[in-house]
Amino acid sequence: MRTTRSRALFSRATQILPGGVDSPVRAFKAVGASPLFIRRASGACITDIDGNTYVDYVMSWGPLIHGHAPPGLVKALAAAARQGTSFGAPSPLEVELGERVRALMPSIERVRFVSSGTEATMSAVRVARAATGRDRILKFEGCYHGHADAFLVKAGSGALTLGTPTSPGVTKAASADTLVATYNDLESVRRAFDANRGQIAAVIVEPIAGNIGVVPPAEGFLRGLREICTAEGALLIFDEVISGFRASAGGAQGLTGVRPDLTCLGKIIGGGLPVGAYGGRADLMDLVSPAGPVYQAGTLSGNPLAMTAGLWCLNRLTPKLYASLSALGATLAAGLADAAREAGVALQVNAFGSLVTPFFTDRAVRDYASATSANADQYATFFRGMLKRGVYPPPSQFEAWFLSAAHTAADVDKTIAAARAVMKTVK
Ligand SMILES: *Cc1c(COP(=O)(O)O)cnc(C)c1O
Repeated sequence: MRTTRSRALFSRATQILPGGVDSPVRAFKAVGASPLFIRRASGACITDIDGNTYVDYVMSWGPLIHGHAPPGLVKALAAAARQGTSFGAPSPLEVELGERVRALMPSIERVRFVSSGTEATMSAVRVARAATGRDRILKFEGCYHGHADAFLVKAGSGALTLGTPTSPGVTKAASADTLVATYNDLESVRRAFDANRGQIAAVIVEPIAGNIGVVPPAEGFLRGLREICTAEGALLIFDEVISGFRASAGGAQGLTGVRPDLTCLGKIIGGGLPVGAYGGRADLMDLVSPAGPVYQAGTLSGNPLAMTAGLWCLNRLTPKLYASLSALGATLAAGLADAAREAGVALQVNAFGSLVTPFFTDRAVRDYASATSANADQYATFFRGMLKRGVYPPPSQFEAWFLSAAHTAADVDKTIAAARAVMKTVK
């Protein structure tokens, strides 16, 4: 498999883009490889600039639940573009998509569209602080909520320790009000509240953790968070940027019946175009400007092309889609586990519907500590072997594999066959 053109372009890219990319994981650093530059994508496949085609499990990191460039979406976008690419004024599409979101997630009584998941979480926390008059927020070790300063807090600092920034450039003040608890551990949440009585504005959580690899919530975890937040007068924020419209059409909240006060959305809601959203209880969202005093704005918010893609995508979330995605996910998870067992490699496969992560560890993975017990070197070997065989998994041990409506049983069979061969090379 020749990758000469990608290599040459990467070296040119590093002279203009920091690290050669516009988002860090794309650089393949964690898997000891040089990134592939993609020319085009269709269905479940991507093709690089050297002409190699791969079955894609990154799927733009989650948005593409209907696959790459579905013809109907491309047509809808072309038609929308002819009507104008941006107005900076209200358009009917925003109202339509807003109503669609509320129909799918009834806890979202009001919604504000933004352009990324990062903006959604950042803004939701601003609303929570304004509504409660409290400063602190509680997040979970290993949960990712975008790159706003307050969320870039060292995972591992422990439930009661006030946050210290993980990234240079984040001031101590910006992260000082961020508390960190352990995922799937309600006791760690209770301890944080005991130590910070009356000071925590909100608990923000990925109801299905997807940014340390896939870690589903333990039975009762989300319900427990709801009860604690209600008792303590704090808001519960579900960051459903991944799980929204993926766990089910109603997200993780639709599946579990746990109703958050605020929800953050991204990825699928834009169908591959840049969209994020935050929403929830009307009394909270009516604090947002111009209905209320909490300022938040965006030049391209509610962009007509982005809204068109979101509508196209959300109008096609049928029960049949989720049933077939779950079946494929189960086949893939079982196939990867079998391949590892045959090769005598310790592997723990976590799966939730169309989200799958093979962790190279013999420990059950239920939080940050157990996820990071996985052997990233083994994953790197596995990744490079899969790539050689025409399969493109996420270039990190700690990211979810995403299935789409475009993936077929044949794609998954090809992937499992490749995994059988590659596992034998993993030491
Ligand atoms: C991707 C992601 C974000 C950030 O979204 P961007 O659009 O990349 O800013 C926030 N939260 C979760 C759970 C995510 O997976």
